[in-house]
Amino acid sequence: MTIATHEFDYVLEAFREGTRFVVTSHVSPDGDAIGSVLGIAHLLRGMGKRDVTCVLEDPVPRVYTWLDGADAIVTPDRAGGPFDTAVLIDAHAGDRSGRSAAVLNGADTFVVIDHHLVERADGHVKWVDPTYAAAGEMVYDLFMRGGVPLTKAAAECIYTAQTTDTGSFRYSNTTARSHRIASVLMDAGIDIRAITERVIDTMSRGKYGLLQRVLGRIQFGAGGTVAHAAIYANDLAETGALPEDTDGLINYLRNIEGVRVAMIFREAKDGKTKVSFRTQADLNAADICRAFGGGGHAVAAGATLEGTIAEARGKVLAHLRAHAGLDV
Ligand code: AMP
Ligand code: MN
Ligand code: MN
Repeated sequence: MTIATHEFDYVLEAFREGTRFVVTSHVSPDGDAIGSVLGIAHLLRGMGKRDVTCVLEDPVPRVYTWLDGADAIVTPDRAGGPFDTAVLIDAHAGDRSGRSAAVLNGADTFVVIDHHLVERADGHVKWVDPTYAAAGEMVYDLFMRGGVPLTKAAAECIYTAQTTDTGSFRYSNTTARSHRIASVLMDAGIDIRAITERVIDTMSRGKYGLLQRVLGRIQFGAGGTVAHAAIYANDLAETGALPEDTDGLINYLRNIEGVRVAMIFREAKDGKTKVSFRTQADLNAADICRAFGGGGHAVAAGATLEGTIAEARGKVLAHLRAHAGLDV
């Protein structure tokens, strides 16, 4: 019997052939970025590869520092090299990895593994499939297809990726496959309560302070179907919140009755504004964000715009008026 060659076989082939690996993901890493980068590192070590460097532009958020291998993640300037094989996961464009892009481009083989809605991906070897709820689930399939034993440490990375990108298996991206994978991860010995407590059910005092401010300044438009709020750099300074503490705050807007479009505008570095988008199924968030040079998924996407929050908000609201017929 022959088994049809799948895109992930080309990824595994590149992994079998490589000797010096560098693995990275997007800036402002979330649980899927961290979990899938570390998951790939575990996979490669399980394949007998000893030279694996994990690189991220931004620090590992505190809630993920306990994951096995997180302490060895370095910034791009400390990556070393040269590398023959570079892996970008949970993103499809090298520049989403910040300064790691140079490291990716310097490798002989550049592998891209992603689950975002993508028009065109970078890389020599690409596996892009938006049916996966998390890039971590793609790592799981590489373990299975590659016949690499799934360790508890790797299973913790994959579960962390899943539970963060699916909102604890509640968002519309969650599939039957997500649950099947999670069941195997549990069989590998992971403690889902302990992981959930560390990753999901812990709010720093800084984040609490930020949440308080954000909830107090939500603005509604289009008959209550649009909700948006701003986070300024001094909000972080004054509450003691870290950039990572802005993660997930948008859900409080999205969950308000009647809201179809939720947005958070956040003051970023260099006079830029980061916008996060959450939409209901009839409005494609990735399409909207692509108009501003960003991207993401159908119901969760983001972009970084030049200019102040007021300027970015003006542009995005104008776009929603013109292209989504919303009276905002
Ligand atoms: P966030 O609002 O940052 O939680 O992002 C929501 C989703 O959109 C995540 O899957 C991100 O990876 C993706 N995303 C956010 N910003 C960008 C961007 N500038 N370009 C492409 N994808 C993005
Ligand atoms: Mn991500
Ligand atoms: Mn992801």
